Amino acid sequence: MHHFTYRDHQLYAEDVAVKDIAARVGTPVYVYSAATLRRHFRVFDEAFAGADHLICFAMKALSNLSILKLFGSMGSGFDIVSVGELMRCLRAGADPKKIVFSGVGKRDEEIAAALEAGILMFNVESRPELDRIAEVARQRKVKAPVSLRVNPDLDPGTHPHISTGHRTSKFGIPLSQVFQYYAQARALPDLELVGLSTHIGSQITDTGPFIEAGEKLAAIVRKLRSDGIALRYLDIGGGLGIPYQEEPPPPAEYAAAILKPLTGLGVKIIAEPGRVLVGNAGILVTRVLYVKETDVKRFIVVDGAMNDLIRPVLYEAYHAIWPVHKPAADRPSVIADVVGPVCESGDFFAQERELPQVQRDDLLAVMSAGAYGFVMASNYNSRARSPEVLVDGTRMHVIRERDSFEDLVRGEKLVELGS
Ligand SMILES: *Cc1c(COP(=O)(O)O)cnc(C)c1O
Repeated sequence: MHHFTYRDHQLYAEDVAVKDIAARVGTPVYVYSAATLRRHFRVFDEAFAGADHLICFAMKALSNLSILKLFGSMGSGFDIVSVGELMRCLRAGADPKKIVFSGVGKRDEEIAAALEAGILMFNVESRPELDRIAEVARQRKVKAPVSLRVNPDLDPGTHPHISTGHRTSKFGIPLSQVFQYYAQARALPDLELVGLSTHIGSQITDTGPFIEAGEKLAAIVRKLRSDGIALRYLDIGGGLGIPYQEEPPPPAEYAAAILKPLTGLGVKIIAEPGRVLVGNAGILVTRVLYVKETDVKRFIVVDGAMNDLIRPVLYEAYHAIWPVHKPAADRPSVIADVVGPVCESGDFFAQERELPQVQRDDLLAVMSAGAYGFVMASNYNSRARSPEVLVDGTRMHVIRERDSFEDLVRGEKLVELGS
C-alpha cells in the first residue's frame, strides 16, 4: 500500500504530480510520501499493540534527517550501526533511551559516543566486543547496557548478501556459546545485562524463519531466567520483506507469528524494521536520454544510474518501473533493458522488461526505491547524488539538495608534486 497513484494518466505522489517535482528539482530525484511513511509506521506499531514493545527503525534503510524526525515524532526509536547514524538521529531529535546500537565492528570512539548519549543498549556480537564495551564503560565510570545478539542458525530463504542468521554468517553469537557468553558478561562489573537480540536477514517473505527464531529466543530467555539472569528486552531484529515482486505477509500476520512463541516471557519486545517501513514509500524518478537499438537488444538509457540505486546489480533486485505519464492502453509495449550512463555493465535498473514505448525526455519511476536506495548512493563516475523530496499532501519539501561540484571535490587537495 502506498500513495503513488495515477490521476488522469499522470503519476502523483499524494497530491503532487511527479512531473512537477521533476520540473522543479530535475532528475534523477528520490521522492518519498509522508502519508505512506506514517501509514507504514502505524500499521507496524499496531501489529505489536498486544505486547509491551518498542519499534526501533533500522535507519540504515533511509537516514535523511526529515524522515528520522517524522518517525521520531510518531514514537519510533532507532536501530543504529555507526556513530554517524547516532549523530544523525540525535540531530533529528531522537530520544537516546530509544536507541539500540547493532553491528559487528563498533570502534572505541563509537562505543564512547553511545555511552555519552545514554542509549538504551548495545547489541553485542562477539567476546572481544563485549570486553571492549566493558573497558570503555570502565574508563568512563558508567555501566554499559548490553544485549547479546544470538545467531539462531537458520536459513531465512533470502538473497545470500542479506541473509544474516545462518551459522556461517559473520553476525551474532553461536547458539552453542550463548549461555557461556551470558555467564562471562555477568562477571564483568561494567556491564548491565539487559537483553537478548537477533536479526536473521532482510526481505524475508515467509513467517516460518521468524517463528523458528522466536522459539529459539524464547527458550534462551527461559533458561537464563532459571539461571538467575532476568532480561528486560527481547530484540527480534528486522527483516520483514515488501512486495517488490513476491508477496510477503502483512505486518499483522508477521507480528502474530513472531509474538506467539514470545508470550508470557515478561520482556519488552523491540522490533527493528527497516525496509518494511520505507521501501514502498519512495521512488526514484529518472528521465529517458536515449533509446538505443542494436541487432539483439533495445536499451532505454536514462539519467539515473547504479550510483543512485545499486540494488538491481548488488542483490539481483527487482524494481517495478512505471511510466510517469501512462500511455493509452492500446499503445504497443516493448521489451528493453533500462540502463544508466555509468561505465559498468552492471549499471541497470531492469533487464528484458516489458515497458510502454518511451522516447527522449519521458520520465520513468523506479518503484519501491525508498529502502537501501539513496543511502547506498555514491559519487561513482563523479556523478552528483540525487536530491530527495518529501511530499506531504499537496506540499513538496526538498529534504536534501543535489550534490554540487564543490560537494564532489570536498576535502580533496591539489598538491604540488612536480612532473
Ligand atoms: C539491517 C538491519 C535491520 C533492518 O532490516 P530490514 O530488512 O530493513 O528490516 C534490523 N536490524 C539489524 C541489526 C540490521 O542490521
